[in-house]
Amino acid sequence: MAWYSSNRRSELPPNWAIIRQRVIRRDRGLCQGVLSEGALCGHPGTEVDHIRPGSDHSMGNLQLLCTWCHKRKTQAESRAGRADKPMPKTHIPRDQREAPPSPW
Ligand SMILES: [Zn+2]
Repeated sequence: MAWYSSNRRSELPPNWAIIRQRVIRRDRGLCQGVLSEGALCGHPGTEVDHIRPGSDHSMGNLQLLCTWCHKRKTQAESRAGRADKPMPKTHIPRDQREAPPSPW
């Protein structure tokens, strides 16, 4: 009976749409991914990410990411095989993004 797709990493609460809008507004629509220089990515964010994967849907555990940063974080998490590793600080600047690194 869930309306969301079953391939989510974690189940989302019924009020997810509201939470999501709140995160987008808090982060001013900008990606919160951290670049290697320590600066924010700052590109338009489209995906609300769980900083620590799991069922913690509190604002403190959510951040807005662009598609690229989110994909990168998801790949890093699946490679690590653990949910508690921090996001690697090896963000590549946009002008070097033509060929995103392959996970294989
Ligand atoms: Zn980003």
